[in-house]
Amino acid sequence: MELTEELTAPLIDQVFTAQKKQSVIMRQSTAVQRIALLKKMMDWIKTHMEDINRAIHADFKKPYPEISISEIYPVTSEIKHAIKHLETWMKPKKVHTPVTMLGSDSYIHYEPKGSSLIISPWNYPFSLALGPLVSALSAGCTAIIKPSEMTPHTSALIRRMAEEIFDKSQVAVFEGDVDVAQKLLAKPFDHIFFTGSPSVGKMIMKAAAENLSSVTLELGGKSPVIIDSKTNLKDAAEKIVMTKLLNCGQTCVAPDYVLVHTSVKDTFLTELKENIQKMYDPKNKGVEKSKDYARIVNTRHLKRIKHLLADAELKGAQIFWGGYVNEEDNFFEPTILTGLTEEMDIMHEEIFGPILPVISYSDLEEAINYINLKPKPLALYVFSKDNDTIKRVFKETSSGAAVANDCALHFLQNELPFGGVNNSGIGKAHGYFGFLTFSNEKAVMKQRIGMTATKPIYPPYGIISKKIIDSLLRWF
Ligand code: NAD
Repeated sequence: MELTEELTAPLIDQVFTAQKKQSVIMRQSTAVQRIALLKKMMDWIKTHMEDINRAIHADFKKPYPEISISEIYPVTSEIKHAIKHLETWMKPKKVHTPVTMLGSDSYIHYEPKGSSLIISPWNYPFSLALGPLVSALSAGCTAIIKPSEMTPHTSALIRRMAEEIFDKSQVAVFEGDVDVAQKLLAKPFDHIFFTGSPSVGKMIMKAAAENLSSVTLELGGKSPVIIDSKTNLKDAAEKIVMTKLLNCGQTCVAPDYVLVHTSVKDTFLTELKENIQKMYDPKNKGVEKSKDYARIVNTRHLKRIKHLLADAELKGAQIFWGGYVNEEDNFFEPTILTGLTEEMDIMHEEIFGPILPVISYSDLEEAINYINLKPKPLALYVFSKDNDTIKRVFKETSSGAAVANDCALHFLQNELPFGGVNNSGIGKAHGYFGFLTFSNEKAVMKQRIGMTATKPIYPPYGIISKKIIDSLLRWF
């Protein structure tokens, strides 16, 4: 809904109340009914490909192939995956009955949490608003979406989609900024699914605490890459350049910085440079001319990234490659930095742009300790031919995801839970895990009538009940 200030609060009230009522009805929805909603979404996407491409491109010149891979595909594959598995996911799961409870039966029922709020960021404005919606609808929840104000074309398109295919008691979209988000957050939603920065994540959690709404926080942070001495450097550089520069570095799971073994640092730097040129400047006309390279979303973020670079340079970092900025077009050249120290802001803040700091290490323990001293990242990447090195890195570090010999690809693997840990997030998304996020795993127990395994220990406690309790403690 595009609204004036005065109308926003009453309309939020009205839609929220309607969704609360509807969520009680949707509690009894069948897989067939939920699949019908998902199919409506799929049909709308398929018939509006051009509109989707146009809106996202208008927001920050995201190249069309990137829109297909990173905006449309994640949503359509989530929908297909949910349609295929929903009936199985929804089935109550029978659990084991211990001897002490003989005669009873226990199940887990997947009940919809109810009314949900989805607050999404600007960097993948389409997929990060609609991916969680697929999970909400699969679980049988209603949803209000508050997309980012920084990508107005895509946010308006998402609103249009919702208005064309859903009743607003099922799915509604409120465009707007922090003010609208805060008005929504004051409502007692059953679940809040937030994707954004750790600092705003803390505010969301505080607001949710007022109503004890459950939360999923999909946050960001600094995802490191370790390059071992025994690595195919060409392969590693190719994968790192692609995933770092996709969406102009504005990706939550993009490699933030690289820790490279000192023995291969120079060759790795050369490989990085050659791969940037191969992918984004094959004709030697400058990356700015490439149609395959997106722009920074707005001036505010361009300035933020410029500050990170200026601060690093001032404190002694060297630009190995890149560094050119065209403010008129929000263009930021891919930039590789060396000579970094912990005094630099770039080594503490999530970069969220096309700057790649490269730091050398001489012993794997040093690299692992470095990562362990920082907040737990959303993803951690290690490139090595040596399985023991990979195993060691996975075992000795903590992160939302750990990937060997590639970056960011796990985002598209619907069979894996997606999310962070502590500073990088709370709760999981995607596929079955997204369904669980929007479901209350209700404990359901059916006891027999009459004699039960526990009645012999009811008061008054005597010698027999004492013997039973003693053996209970000894044997069970
Ligand atoms: P952001 O936290 O600034 O904004 C996200 C959303 O929150 C927007 O809709 C915004 O309007 C709203 N918002 C902002 N301030 C608010 C406040 N005070 N109260 C209530 N709502 C508020 O994030 P962003 O700049 O849009 O996105 C970038 C961040 O998101 C990065 O940190 C990135 O790593 C993270 N991110 C994480 C994932 C993930 O899946 N883990 C995916 C994409 C982006």
